[in-house]
Amino acid sequence: MEQTDTKKNEDWVWLGHKQHFIGKSSCRFSLATYLPATRRVVSTIGDYFPVYEREAVGPGTDDYYETFVFICDGTFSEYCGCPTRVDTLEIDGRRYATAQEATAGHMELCRKHSEV
Ligand SMILES: [Zn+2]
Repeated sequence: MEQTDTKKNEDWVWLGHKQHFIGKSSCRFSLATYLPATRRVVSTIGDYFPVYEREAVGPGTDDYYETFVFICDGTFSEYCGCPTRVDTLEIDGRRYATAQEATAGHMELCRKHSEV
């Protein structure tokens, strides 16, 4: 994976909690990054096992992973420090078939949204 300007990435905050998707507690894969400069959160979930079988998280049969980007209001949960989203509607997003694609896509959207 290519590495861009690391100075720019220093203020990114990696979040432990999954940031979107109603079935997130059944997702085995997640990445979440808060971008302070633009007050956006990039959230990736996937490998969704609601019961025993893996299911897609998007409308396509191979949509096993997705990254959504949300605007935040600059406040944070007192409980865990997660950012507060302005609303539940994403401003950008991608879906993928594999975890490798999801990881690369997450980083791409972090870079894309870290500057206005
Ligand atoms: Zn949290």
